[in-house]
Amino acid sequence: MTEFNTIDDLDVNGKTVLVRADLNVPMQDGKVSDTTRIDRLAPTLTELAKKGAKVVVLSHFGRPKNGPDAKNSLRNVLEALSAAVGQTVAFGEDCVGDKAKAAIDGVQPGAIVLLENTRFHAEEEKNDPAFAKQIAALGDLYVNDAFSAAHRAHASTEGVAQHLPAAAGRLMQAELEALTKALEKPERPVAAVVGGAKISTKLDLLGNLVKKVDMLALGGGMANTFLFAQGVDVGASLCEKDMADQARAIMETAKAANCELLLPKDFIVAKEFKAGAAHRAVPADGIGADEMALDVGPETVEFLGLKLQGAKTVVWNGPLGAFEIQPFDAGTNAVAGLVAERTSEGGLLSVAGGGDTVSALAHAGVEEKFTYISAAGGAFLEWLEGKDLPGVAALKKK
Ligand code: AMP
Repeated sequence: MTEFNTIDDLDVNGKTVLVRADLNVPMQDGKVSDTTRIDRLAPTLTELAKKGAKVVVLSHFGRPKNGPDAKNSLRNVLEALSAAVGQTVAFGEDCVGDKAKAAIDGVQPGAIVLLENTRFHAEEEKNDPAFAKQIAALGDLYVNDAFSAAHRAHASTEGVAQHLPAAAGRLMQAELEALTKALEKPERPVAAVVGGAKISTKLDLLGNLVKKVDMLALGGGMANTFLFAQGVDVGASLCEKDMADQARAIMETAKAANCELLLPKDFIVAKEFKAGAAHRAVPADGIGADEMALDVGPETVEFLGLKLQGAKTVVWNGPLGAFEIQPFDAGTNAVAGLVAERTSEGGLLSVAGGGDTVSALAHAGVEEKFTYISAAGGAFLEWLEGKDLPGVAALKKK
């Protein structure tokens, strides 16, 4: 990785390193209920500690409104963090000022200190320069390992990087490398698979992708809107009729950019939106007036399988059908399975993320088989939209 500084570019021995993490983890009954994010972060912290740094962890947690409160205290994740890094993590009652400094002064190099929720200060989300300076004053170096928070220009994600030598942590580095390989410098042909409910939430994403990829396969509710825009009767299916012009504009952009749009050839339709509803497969133009297209059909799965055979890179966002209710998960499961298989064989680089994608691919049983599945929701989507992420931009080699 040449464009961004990484931990390899920093001499951390004997230094105090501020690490921006994303410890905004799900909680149940006062305990961390899913430690995925903490487990993925741990290698960065232990590497820095082993290299002789004092490691100071900064993060937001929840959405506190009026300053500190027990529910949003990062004390709640201290035990899980200690378990993940295999050492007792110290705690600082504030993320700036005397309390933070005392906690850092109280430990030796090789120790890890977690500071209190950055969002207990309103200045954090305002990216207040004085507040960013106060954070920076606590350390010698800055490492950002929170890709999932990098789409927000906050004091601890962007402002602080203006004051200290800054680098990407290992998790951020893995994410940036995967994303760069998938869209910035991909092996071609590159295909995007985009599903999900609506096109209105994905206009920027689709507009950007058609300019970058060689093939764009559309599924889910949004494919209905594209077919409707081409004059197809989609019956009672989810369809944003007022978005037909936008759908046509995306089709035009795709044509001009030589991007092949792959629309469903057939659907699984039902009259009820419920598990086990009576259903049938119909051609794309054969949806009855009282029927809803709830999944792509077998012909589409086969067609996409053939098309994706030729791809070297696949970027995936969104399910191809209403995957939460059976049997309308079949299309997503089958196409995800094909991508996973080709990835395992070594012929394909596959990157997925954003919104419901992680749970749809976990449901398909391919979570471990894609090259990279991003845990970052909003940041992944903004990257697919082609936006510059402020937290990432701040790590670029000067
Ligand atoms: P999104 O958050 O835009 O990625 O949309 C994900 C949601 O789209 C999931 O909850 C799916 O159930 C839903 N979805 C996908 N395909 C369809 C469809 N054909 N009809 C209705 N909902 C769908």
